[in-house]
Amino acid sequence: MKELYADIIVDISHEKLDKTFQYRVPEKLMEVLEPGMCVQIPFGKGNRLIQGYVVAMTFECSFDPQKMKEIAGLATGEADVTHRMIALAAWMRKQYGSTMIQSLKTVLPARHTVGKLEHKYVEVLMNKEELRSLLGESIRKKQAGRIRLLTALVEDMDGIIPLSFLTGKLNIAPATVTSLCRDGAIRVFASESYRNPVKCDSAGHREISLSEEQKLVVKTVLEEFDAGKRGTYLVHGITGSGKTQVYIRLAEAIVARGKQVIVLIPEIALTYQTLLRFYSRFGDRVSVLNSTLSPGERYDQCERAKNGEIDVIIGPRSALFTPFPNVGLIVMDEEHEGSYKSESMPKYHARETALEVARLHNASVVLGSATPSMEAYYRALKGEYRLFTLTKRLTGGCIPQVSIVDLREELKSGNRSIFSRKLQDLLTDRLQKGQQSILFLNRRGYAGFVSCRACGEVMKCPHCDVSLSEHFGEQMVCHYCGYTTRKPAACPKCGSKYLLGFRAGTQQIEEKLKEIYPGIRTLRMDGDTTKKKGSYEAILSDFAEGKADVLIGTQMIVKGHDFPNVTLVGVLAADISLGANDYRSGERTFQLLTQAVGRAGRGELPGEAVIQTYQPEHYAVLHAAAQDYVAFYEEEILYRELGGYPPAAHMLAIQIFAQDMREGEQVANRLAEIVKRGSVNLRVLGPAPASIGKINDVYRFVIYVKGNDSDELVRVKDVCEMNFDEQLSPRVQLQFDFDPMNCM
Ligand code: ADP
Ligand code: ZN
Ligand code: ZN
Repeated sequence: MKELYADIIVDISHEKLDKTFQYRVPEKLMEVLEPGMCVQIPFGKGNRLIQGYVVAMTFECSFDPQKMKEIAGLATGEADVTHRMIALAAWMRKQYGSTMIQSLKTVLPARHTVGKLEHKYVEVLMNKEELRSLLGESIRKKQAGRIRLLTALVEDMDGIIPLSFLTGKLNIAPATVTSLCRDGAIRVFASESYRNPVKCDSAGHREISLSEEQKLVVKTVLEEFDAGKRGTYLVHGITGSGKTQVYIRLAEAIVARGKQVIVLIPEIALTYQTLLRFYSRFGDRVSVLNSTLSPGERYDQCERAKNGEIDVIIGPRSALFTPFPNVGLIVMDEEHEGSYKSESMPKYHARETALEVARLHNASVVLGSATPSMEAYYRALKGEYRLFTLTKRLTGGCIPQVSIVDLREELKSGNRSIFSRKLQDLLTDRLQKGQQSILFLNRRGYAGFVSCRACGEVMKCPHCDVSLSEHFGEQMVCHYCGYTTRKPAACPKCGSKYLLGFRAGTQQIEEKLKEIYPGIRTLRMDGDTTKKKGSYEAILSDFAEGKADVLIGTQMIVKGHDFPNVTLVGVLAADISLGANDYRSGERTFQLLTQAVGRAGRGELPGEAVIQTYQPEHYAVLHAAAQDYVAFYEEEILYRELGGYPPAAHMLAIQIFAQDMREGEQVANRLAEIVKRGSVNLRVLGPAPASIGKINDVYRFVIYVKGNDSDELVRVKDVCEMNFDEQLSPRVQLQFDFDPMNCM
């Protein structure tokens, strides 16, 4: 009988993760042992029994078999935090395809020796009246930083706020904090001197009574929780319908039951208004994770969570891995957001992973969105999730009036500018009235599609019904199936020669705007202008303070702050995201347009929105203009069912990266063959060159596999892994992406 060996990590908190020890697997464990399991092993000179975690199993012995020790047995009875994290990593490895090490590194915080970190907090000492008078004074003296901080204190803040939050999210200079301390408005103290959390549960300050719709959610989730039933709930509610209020209420109730709460929010939507509401409820028992934390700070947060010093963590998808002892609830706000999917191995989705974390802890999950993902709504309609709808906007302000402008008509009547006549008229009007506007360029997912500017026709793959992408100038390629065709000289539908992709960027838009409206004050927000730390917040607060008439930007601007003075939103070309060459383009367009339109008219003044497009009859455009989610869903799901796309079916992208094009192609072809041979119920597409065929001199190929059963796709992944391992070429890499968010 062949000997089996296990690579084992010992005491993960002290060793570097990649350091493993090999042990022989005893016969009695041959059938049962799996990566991720916790075992007892003899260790060191004295053969003391300690715990270890199996990360891989192999028939290859990596050193003298004579000296190899044997695993003593399975470790029993530990339900500790670490064990749960290891189990989660093992699940991710199996589900998404990666090495155990990659999964462990995703799940466990890297150990960093940090000195005793001091947490500094700010307490407000003045009452609102006193604060207001200070604010008035600062406005007279035009002290921008003080105005920002005092406005926040007057409007939103109670309780205890971390200092790092003020200097980070609110972009407040330390000198400003010092000057307000001197004025006696606030005091700064270290966490050691403050043990007692803010009165969370007391019906003290600003107790809002919930609406009937909100009450139903809170009551149902808690009643089921107390009856021992754990569920997944989807809250579908427009922005301002009180979802965050529901999360806070639920979090309070779960914390009162002695359990912890994880609140996931996409990084870009982690606005200070949202954070303040949590701080004012949970004080220093809440903590925030975000990308600005150093590894040391991150590690420190994890230690605090483990030690029971915090009850609630707020953060992007990685907050799921907070090592809490006893999670009772996971909230996932804006669950449709693409950033919930990891871009690196393992390419996990936070929604599915949240459900697994909840299973390991016996917790409930609440998902929320104004435009739920097709996946979540599909599951809700099937009864897997319980659906709630919040229909009323509690903030006042009404839904803006939306016009759709047909860009084909503009061209016909001789207007070649990127601004339609309607949009120009409205912009002029807003400038005269001194109101603000937002111009939005939905460039996400843009990949050089080809369309006709005269009739709007988009060149599509006849097999996959997604846009073809321009490739090496003269050709068009489908990145799902590899279908290739020459770029036609004229539009096949109307014969026009105006066949183009959209090339306008935010910078050109800004220049054009300044030509038409000399003296106009603009701010621009895109990947270029937000590279520097803090610049995102700075642009938003400048706009909020009225320092510009128009804010021009990509999808970044549709989230975040409320701008009460914005009464016009212009979407410059809805087609850009519609033309994206993947099956989610309709969904993404609907989400972006709905959010963009919703930015107008948040305050007292009514809002208007203009959507410019070559495809005014497209259902994503029409339903977004009407803000009708359900109508959109019903049309979109038909398309998914017909095309065999998620959530109606499942899809696996097998990506091949190679330095040598030939070699990459060979591996891709071989894997495609193997997958095709082994599958009856699956459709295998490709291999095709990836939509960005080459990055940094690495060639990329992709094979798509479609099937109804996700477990079967997991098995396809296993088969690929097994067949790939044999020829371990260091120059070729393999990655997997289940139900991909973007075309590869
Ligand atoms: P969402 O998260 O859906 O955008 P929020 O929870 O942020 O909605 O609520 C929007 C606004 O309405 C907030 O200013 C909040 O304080 C307020 N609000 C929420 N629930 C209520 C309620 N039951 N009564 C009055 N105001 C509420
Ligand atoms: Zn045409
Ligand atoms: Zn195709």
